Amino acid sequence: MKYDYDLFTIGAGSGGVRASRFAANFGARVAIAEERYLGGTCVNVGCIPKKLFAYAAHYHDDFEDTHGYGWSVNQPAFNWATLIANKDKEITRLNGVYERVLKSANVEILHERATVVDAHTVSIAGRQITAQHILIATGGWPVKPSMPGAELGFTSNEAFHLDTLPGRIVVVGGGYIAVEFASIFHGLGVDTTLVYRGERLLKSFDAELGTFLGEQMQTKGVKILFQRNITSIARAGSLKSTLTDGSTLESNGVMLATGRAPNAHGLGLENAGVKLAENGAVMVDKNFQTSVPSIHAIGDVTDRVLLTPVALAEGMVVADRLFGKGARTVSYDNIPTAIFSNPNVGTVGLSESEARGRGLDVSVFKSKFTALKHTLTGSKERVFMKLVVDKRTNRVLGVHMVGPDAGEIIQGFSVALNCGATKQQFDATIGIHPTMAEEFVTMRESAA
Ligand SMILES: Cc1cc2nc3c(=O)[nH]c(=O)nc-3n(C[C@H](O)[C@H](O)[C@H](O)COP(=O)(O)OP(=O)(O)OC[C@H]3O[C@@H](n4cnc5c(N)ncnc54)[C@H](O)[C@@H]3O)c2cc1C
Repeated sequence: MKYDYDLFTIGAGSGGVRASRFAANFGARVAIAEERYLGGTCVNVGCIPKKLFAYAAHYHDDFEDTHGYGWSVNQPAFNWATLIANKDKEITRLNGVYERVLKSANVEILHERATVVDAHTVSIAGRQITAQHILIATGGWPVKPSMPGAELGFTSNEAFHLDTLPGRIVVVGGGYIAVEFASIFHGLGVDTTLVYRGERLLKSFDAELGTFLGEQMQTKGVKILFQRNITSIARAGSLKSTLTDGSTLESNGVMLATGRAPNAHGLGLENAGVKLAENGAVMVDKNFQTSVPSIHAIGDVTDRVLLTPVALAEGMVVADRLFGKGARTVSYDNIPTAIFSNPNVGTVGLSESEARGRGLDVSVFKSKFTALKHTLTGSKERVFMKLVVDKRTNRVLGVHMVGPDAGEIIQGFSVALNCGATKQQFDATIGIHPTMAEEFVTMRESAA
C-alpha cells in the first residue's frame, strides 16, 4: 500500500462523519481526526441543543395559552440547571451514537487535532500519516467584534454551558443565531434586549420575513434596538454595554451573535498549496476539490451554505466521487431553511427581491392571520405567509412563512418547488382544514 489510508478526514462534524462513513462503506480505508467533540457543531453547540432550548423556551407561551382552554396551571417555575443537565445527557448519548456509527463502518477515530503537511500527509500528535485523499471538514467558529471588553461577552459556544441564566441579557446581532437566542432567553424568563445595526432582522431572507418576525418578537416582549451597534462592554458590578448612539445598557450577560468564520486557520493549508479566500474559507470547485487535487473540503469551512443537511450532502458527493460511482450531485437550488425563533420562520426558494433582481416579472401572494388556536388563547401572535410566483411560467419560486411549525410546513413545499410546481397546481391542491398550512393553497389575490 502506497499510503497509510485511502482517506484521512480532518473534523468529525456533520460533513466529515458522513463522508468518512460513506467512503468506508465503499471499501476505502478511512481515518478521521477530531480535536473536540464527535458530531461537531450541530450536535454539540448548534442545531440540536439550540432546538432543545427552543422547545424549553416555548413552554412559556404554552403555559399562558392553556388558560383560554380551561386549564389552570400553578405558577410555572423554570430550572436552568435541569435543562442543561438533561441537554448534556442527550448530547453525550449522541456523541456515543456518532462513535458507534464510525466504528461499525470501520473508520478509525483519532481524538486529536490534525494539520496538513503536504498533498498526502497529515500531522497528528507528533506523528505523520499519509493518505491518498485528505478531506478538510473543520467547520466554522464564532467571531466576536473587536472592541474593548469583547472578552466579557459570550458566543453561541458558551451559551450552551452558562452556569446560571442571567436576569437581564443583551444579544447582539440580527442573523438567525441572534433571533433564536433572543427568543430562547426571553422565553426562559430573561429580560432580553436585541441590538442590531441593520434596519430589519434576517437580512439575507425575504425582507418581509425579518420585518414581521421583528414585530412579533417585540409583541412577545423582546426589546429590539435597530440601527445601533455595540462599541464596548465594561464590568461595573453588572455589565455595561455602550452603543453607537452613546446610550448604555446594563445587563448580567452579553451574547455576541455577530457572525462565524471558516475554521481553516493554522491547519497548514497554505503551505500545502491550498488556496484560501480572503476570509479564510477553503476554495473548492464544483466537485469540492481544492487547488491541490488530493485535498477536498466540504461544509462550513468552505463558507457556502452553512447548514448541516448541506454538509451531509456534500460529504456523500465527495465519498461517492472518490470511492463510488461518482453519480451523486448536490443542488443548491431551493434549499429549505428554518429559523427556530419564536415564532418560527420557514423559507424555501427565492425572496421577492432576489426574483426581481434576476429580472423576473413576479406576482406575490400574501396572507397575515391569527391561527385558530389563538382565537381562544388571547395571544397576539400572528402568522405571515408569502408566495413568489413567476408570471411568465406560473412557477412558484419562493414559499415563505413566519409562524408556528414553519420549518415543518416548509419542508413539504420544498419538494413541490423542486418538482417545478406552478401556482395553478398549488390552487388545484385541496387544503387540509383547519390548518395554517392550507393558506398556502388558498391564496388567490395577488398583492403585487
Ligand atoms: C448556534 C448554531 C445553531 C445552528 N443551527 C442549525 C440548524 O438549526 N440547522 C442547520 O442545518 N444548521 C445549523 N447550524 C449550522 C450547522 O451546525 C453547521 O452548518 C454544520 O455543523 C457544519 O458541519 P461541518 O461538518 O462543516 O462542520 P462542524 O460540524 O463544525 O464540524 C467540524 C469539526 O471539526 C473539528 N475540527 C476543527 N479543526 C480540527 C482539526 N485541526 N483537527 C481535528 N478536528 C478539527 C471541530 O472540533 C468540529 O467538531 C447551526 C450552527 C450554530 C453555531
